[in-house]
Amino acid sequence: MSGLLVVEDDIQLNKALSLTLRSRGYQVASVTIAGQCLVEILRLEPDVIIMDLGLPDMDGIELIRAVRAGSSVPIVVLSARRDQTDKVQALDAGADDYLTKPFGIEELLARIRAAQRRAGAPASDHVIATAHFTVDLGRKQVHDNDGDEIHLTPTEWGVLEALVRADGLLVSGTDLLRDVWGSHYESQSNYLRVYLAQLRRKLEPEPSRPRYFMTAAGLGYRFDATGSTAQ
Ligand code: CA
Repeated sequence: MSGLLVVEDDIQLNKALSLTLRSRGYQVASVTIAGQCLVEILRLEPDVIIMDLGLPDMDGIELIRAVRAGSSVPIVVLSARRDQTDKVQALDAGADDYLTKPFGIEELLARIRAAQRRAGAPASDHVIATAHFTVDLGRKQVHDNDGDEIHLTPTEWGVLEALVRADGLLVSGTDLLRDVWGSHYESQSNYLRVYLAQLRRKLEPEPSRPRYFMTAAGLGYRFDATGSTAQ
């Protein structure tokens, strides 16, 4: 499975979360107790776990430790506990991120994307081939079909890498700006237009009709390795 596992014993919240995440294009499995969580991790191999700490059958910190004993899957903790100690304990036990309830769905989505990007990072020898060019994430190189290197500036590479690592998922303009330029640049959407245009000029067969570097107007950008639909 490529998707999310939601662990939350509050049935209403569990349903609402699962529904919202599905509407954003994720495959979602959901469980309400820690015991099921451990079973489903083995069965489904989720990409990210979204975990409530207050579960009926096991202490949340214990559950994080139990997950970590056998899996490196990213864990985003949801907790009603505002105590700093809980947060420290959860992170020390192996959680990757921590959100305090109530939280905004956009913030949760951003944390999930960040967890996915970090989890994708170790696969640095990954090579993604399209019909027109090949991206080598390990060597930080792009080649055309004749094997000639297409030279990218470090910033062009940064944008390309962030999009490719998102593995077909939409990357919001804000996330992209923060990833490539840093957190002070989140509103500089003009940067993205400039750099996406440059990438398309270098890599797209028809830069004015992109098929690899797609724009979702007002939402962000998406890399489609299949290049099957021109915009
Ligand atoms: Ca709970």
